[in-house]
Amino acid sequence: MRNIDKKRLDALYMRLCKLKKTFLGYPCDAKFDYSPLYRFLEFPINNVGDPFEHSTYRLQTKEFEQEALSFFAKLYHLGKPHGYVTNGGTEGNLYGLFLGRSILGNVPVVFSQDTHYSIRKNVHILNLKSIVVKSLENGEINYGDFEKKIRRKKAVIICANIGTTMKGAIDNVEQLVRILKKNNVKFYIHADAALYGMTMPFVRGAKLFDFRTPISSLAVSGHKFIGSPIPCGVALARKDVFDAAKSYIEYIDAHDTTLSGSRDAFTPLILWYRIKTIGRKGFARQVKYSNDLAAYLEKKLKMMGWPNVARSYNTVYFKRPSKHSIYKWELAAQKDIAHVICLPHDSKPQIDEFLADLRKELK
Ligand SMILES: *Cc1c(COP(=O)(O)O)cnc(C)c1O
Repeated sequence: MRNIDKKRLDALYMRLCKLKKTFLGYPCDAKFDYSPLYRFLEFPINNVGDPFEHSTYRLQTKEFEQEALSFFAKLYHLGKPHGYVTNGGTEGNLYGLFLGRSILGNVPVVFSQDTHYSIRKNVHILNLKSIVVKSLENGEINYGDFEKKIRRKKAVIICANIGTTMKGAIDNVEQLVRILKKNNVKFYIHADAALYGMTMPFVRGAKLFDFRTPISSLAVSGHKFIGSPIPCGVALARKDVFDAAKSYIEYIDAHDTTLSGSRDAFTPLILWYRIKTIGRKGFARQVKYSNDLAAYLEKKLKMMGWPNVARSYNTVYFKRPSKHSIYKWELAAQKDIAHVICLPHDSKPQIDEFLADLRKELK
């Protein structure tokens, strides 16, 4: 390689090292060390096809993918896992809605205003219709408006938010089910747990959202709370809906149950490694750490008189600060609010530095 190109790679590396220190706004943890896995980058590994079936492509890591999936299935009370490691929340959501359509056919998809933009896109890809329901002030679905909009429908697919992108709001799945049953509407519920799927199971008294409720599928992110240099996620479904959508492919000698054909075989190793090295106890500790840090940030913002401060678990949202602060701290902002999502990689000194920047703006 030419020297100038080598220097460019070095400069990129230095830039990323620096940016990591002010990475506050997005829900992606940066505290991880996967160096014991680097040697697996030597191989053209590929988990093509269903993770529970062997295929003729043998450079794969399906055994590890299966174990990672079992961990998540247990965490969400699913029993035997059906699903796979995806490349992120969007794919998991598309998978859930796709299964919903396989079961109920071309029925409308119902979700709140505060729902992640991937849902609208996925509904469009599946050529379904959207019914957008109003949100409450805290970002949760408005149950009154929900009932009004589903009352006269025969069947609907619902996307329930388990942590909305901006405000970290959680839709009450059990309440949605009560309303659907009362109105005799057939339903398929997909839980978009991209954001909070890895934190709520470790919070005492949190609303039920997993397979103990009548959800049929669930998507969670791997690169957010768990942390990964490569975006990934997990999609899970109940056996009956999973079976409704699969087909056998001779070329790979396996069933085609995944949206992507060739699939990343490295991220299953990352998830597996994380589970084996920190496990449930470690995740629980990290969730507590993040929620406590968010409570600290919320308290300090309120004390300094910053407008419109509110919090849901590790998401703290508030009136949007200056362009400079948004840029410096990589805050995600939408309309008049911005948020910080506290994660294991954040520290009190870093939060204090952020608060000092905001304090200057109030003068
Ligand atoms: C991040 C997120 C997604 C999308 O995940 P990607 O990995 O970016 O595709 C979907 N829904 C919610 C609520 C999210 O927070």
